[in-house]
Amino acid sequence: MPTPEITIDLEKIASNVSVLKELYGARGISIIGVTKAACGDPCLANILVSNGVNFLADSRIINIKRMLDAGVKAKFLLLRTLPSEVELVVKYADVSLNSDLSIIRLLSEAATKRNLLHKIILMIELGDLREGIMPIDLNSAVRNILKLPGIELMGIGTNLACFGGIMPNARKMRMLSSIAIDLEKRFNITLDLISGGNSANYNWFKKSEVLGRINNLRLGESIFLGRETLERKPIPNLFTDAFSLSAEVIESGLKPSVPFGETGLDAFGNKPVFEDSGQIKRAILGIGKLDVNTDGLAPPDGMTILGATSDHLILNTNEKVLKVGDVVTFGLNYGALLSAMNSQTIAKRYVKTSDNRRILQNDRGKRPASQAAFSDNRD
Ligand SMILES: *Cc1c(COP(=O)(O)O)cnc(C)c1O
Repeated sequence: MPTPEITIDLEKIASNVSVLKELYGARGISIIGVTKAACGDPCLANILVSNGVNFLADSRIINIKRMLDAGVKAKFLLLRTLPSEVELVVKYADVSLNSDLSIIRLLSEAATKRNLLHKIILMIELGDLREGIMPIDLNSAVRNILKLPGIELMGIGTNLACFGGIMPNARKMRMLSSIAIDLEKRFNITLDLISGGNSANYNWFKKSEVLGRINNLRLGESIFLGRETLERKPIPNLFTDAFSLSAEVIESGLKPSVPFGETGLDAFGNKPVFEDSGQIKRAILGIGKLDVNTDGLAPPDGMTILGATSDHLILNTNEKVLKVGDVVTFGLNYGALLSAMNSQTIAKRYVKTSDNRRILQNDRGKRPASQAAFSDNRD
């Protein structure tokens, strides 16, 4: 087995997609599957499509092209439009999120040149201060958009809980609903998609009896990691461990917990601080910041991550004794997942839960399921 390696359990992701589609679909909310955390990985994209989510979104046009080239049968939404890419956007994306009239004008020119109709979802600023047109500027923007050839206003949307940590609560969703209703009346148009947000909208959805005009969410993290993103609590019936990352031990032994010698700065220019807990069992792993965002890794139970440099991750293994060559498996948060899937130095392995069951059975109880996170298999 090559390391470092990310293991992707397609069966768990398939299950998460089906549960979420059912949950939201039962109350009239469609799902757009956001593939950017997986860099538009066609294997994962196909799992979303075969489980009923055939509208996919990515923030990068090259990821969308990657899925199209691999034959993924879906509609594609681009989440972030660059003015320098409008030609590619109208060519590869069916729909794009937009919040600036000058870019929408460029899209209109590019679409007209190709004799295409490009759909847009206009993003509305509701306080998180990432992207969006301020509500006060909305009427004039929509008036202009409706005059643009080659552009169809498919709907409106908002994105909260991203930059400013603003909650997508009932009040914000009511605002978006009433903006939709007002625009439709004022301009005598129909907005097909009122896209209320992302994985952070789960609590609003569960708590609200009335969903108003909101009929869509764009979901990434809850599909892949099984969590809502306001408190990062697991969503019932979803798998939170569809991805795991393994790396091998390259040095192991007893060392002091505090560095000795004259102190300067570490490899990243920080002044490190250490707590003295005497001699500790340390393992050094062949994975580092060059491979993955190590801050987002969750070590196996009983171990703690002491830190990482570009090429090494240092673990306090506490009670456990690891040997050189042992493989340690970590959980990933969203940041770690993004960076691991985008990493050139991390191998990707696709499995299905049923394969895992087979592996555990072959172990003949050598390794209890509860310790599956820590494996001393070297195959
Ligand atoms: C990344 C992104 C999403 C998905 O967010 P999750 O928290 O992963 O569900 C939705 N909308 C936009 C605009 C995004 O950029």
